[in-house]
Amino acid sequence: MAIVRTPGLPYLDDGKLISTNPVTGDEVARLAAAAPDDVDTAVRRAREAAERWGELGFAERRRRLLAWNAVIARRMRELAHLMHRETGKPVGDGLLEIANTIEHLSWAARNARRVLRARRMRGSLLTPEYGGLLEYQPYGVVGVIGPWNYPAFTPMGSIGYALAAGNAVVFKPSEYSPAVGEWLVTTFAEAVGDAPMFQAVHGLGDVGAALTRSGVDKVAFTGSTATGKRVMAACAESLTPVVIECGGKDAMIVDADADLDAAADAAIWGGMANAGQTCVGIERVYAVDSVYDALLTRLVDRAGKLRVAADEGANVGPITMPGQIDIIRRHIDDAIARGGTAALGGLDAVRPPYVHPTILTDVPEESDAVCQETFGPTLTVTRVADADEAVRRANATPYGLGASIFGRRRALALARKVRSGMAAINSTISFAVLPTLPFGGVGESGFGRIHGDDGLREFARAKAIARRRMPSALPLMSFRRTPRAEKLVTRVMRAMHGRR
Ligand code: NDP
Repeated sequence: MAIVRTPGLPYLDDGKLISTNPVTGDEVARLAAAAPDDVDTAVRRAREAAERWGELGFAERRRRLLAWNAVIARRMRELAHLMHRETGKPVGDGLLEIANTIEHLSWAARNARRVLRARRMRGSLLTPEYGGLLEYQPYGVVGVIGPWNYPAFTPMGSIGYALAAGNAVVFKPSEYSPAVGEWLVTTFAEAVGDAPMFQAVHGLGDVGAALTRSGVDKVAFTGSTATGKRVMAACAESLTPVVIECGGKDAMIVDADADLDAAADAAIWGGMANAGQTCVGIERVYAVDSVYDALLTRLVDRAGKLRVAADEGANVGPITMPGQIDIIRRHIDDAIARGGTAALGGLDAVRPPYVHPTILTDVPEESDAVCQETFGPTLTVTRVADADEAVRRANATPYGLGASIFGRRRALALARKVRSGMAAINSTISFAVLPTLPFGGVGESGFGRIHGDDGLREFARAKAIARRRMPSALPLMSFRRTPRAEKLVTRVMRAMHGRR
C-alpha cells in the first residue's frame, strides 16, 4: 500500500532527509541525514579549520567572505526559486530576503576589523605603570541552529557574523529548509575553497540536539521559544554560551496623528508577507479611538486584495509547516468563540495548505490570538483610548521581539516604552534590514544579539591582557606594600572621589 505523505512534511528515508514542496508534496531535496557521530565528526573538522580561519586575519577573511557574497548575489534568482519550491515563499519575497542577507554579509565582512581589532587601553591613576590590551578572540566553533521561515536571512545573521569574527560554523538547517542550507554551504565551498570552515548537518530535531551537546564553543539558536528553552537547558550542562532568538507577538501602535494609509500598508505587509510566518511580523494592531474605524476600513480593503496562491508571483503563499495550520485555525476559532468578529476571513479562510488573510476585531486580550504566536496571515485589531493604553496592551505578553509605531509627535517616546528588543517608527521590520542595528529580543523572545557591532561581538570573547610597562613607583599589589603607600592611597582617593 502506498504511503500517503502530507505535502510539506519532511521525512527520513534510508538515511536521507527528504524535503517536500508544501503544496504539491513533490520531493525538493534528498540529503544525507547526520547520525550523532557525524555531528561530532563535523565539529572536529570545524575545530581544525577554525584555527586556520582565525589565523587568516580580518583582511583575508573579508576578501573570502566578499567572494562568497558575490556568488550569492550572482545566483540570487536560483536561490529564490529554491526557497519557493522548498517553503512555498513567493519568489519576490525570496529575492528581498536574499538581498538583505547579502547586505548583512557584506557589512559583517567589512566591519569585523573595526569592531573586533585589538586595542590598547589606558591604566588608572592607581596603576599608571600598567597598560591594557583588549582583544576580541573568536570562540572557535559556533553551532548555528536555524528555522525555515527565512531560511537564508535568519541563520546567516549568525553564520555571516560568526565567520567574520573568525569562527568556524556547523549549521543545522531546519528540516523544512535543508536544501537552502545546503545551497549556502555549497556556494561557500565554491567561493572560499576551504569547506570545513562552514558545514551543514542535516536531519530532524535530534540532530540539532546532538549539536548542542557536541562540544561546540557557542550555540546560536533561532526558532520557537519552546525549543529555545530545550537548547538552553542542554547547553547549561556544559556551560556552553548561547544566543537565543525566539518567537514574538509583535504589536503595531497607531496613534492619532499617524498617516493611516502608510500604517495600513505596513500592517498588512508586516502581518501577511511570507504568509505571516515572520518572527518580527505584526500580529496585533492597537489603534487609538479617533483613527480606529478609518484604519480598519483600510486594513480590510488592502488585505482583501491579496492574491493567495502557489505560484511564484503570489502575494501570500502556502503555510510551510503543515502542523502550523491547526494552530492558526485554533487561534481564529478561539477568538471568535470568545466574542471576536472576523472583519475579513475567519475560519473559512483556513483552506490547507493556505490561510487567507484574516482580520479579527473585538478579540479579548486573554485569547490565544492575542497572547500566543499565531504565525499566519492574521491580525487582531483593537480599539484603545490612547497610545498609553496601546503600550500597556502591547507589553502584556511575555514576548518582546519587535514593535512598530505609527504617529508623529509621540512616536519616539512610544518606541522607547514598548518592551521589546527592537522598534520601527512609521515602518515595520525595518530594524532587521539596517546592518548597523543589533537584532534580538527580551523575555520569551530570547536574548543576545545578532547584526551590527553587538552581533559581531556576540561571536567573540573579550580577552583582557594587562602588561606592566615599568617598575611600580608605589607597589600596591605586592607584599612589599608599605603603610606609607596605604596612607597615600587613602588620601588620593578622598581627594579624587570623596568630595561629592
Ligand atoms: P523550531 O523551534 O521548531 O525549530 C528551530 C530549529 O531547532 C530547527 O532547526 C529544529 O530542527 C531545531 N530543533 C528542534 N528540536 C531541537 C532540540 N531539541 N535541540 C536543538 N535543536 C532543535 O522553530 P521553527 O523552525 O518552527 O521556526 C519558527 C519559529 O522561529 C517561530 O517561533 C519564529 O518566531 C522563530 N523565529 C525567530 C526569529 C528571531 O530572530 N527571533 C527569526 C525567525 C524565526 P527541525 O526543524 O529539524 O525540527
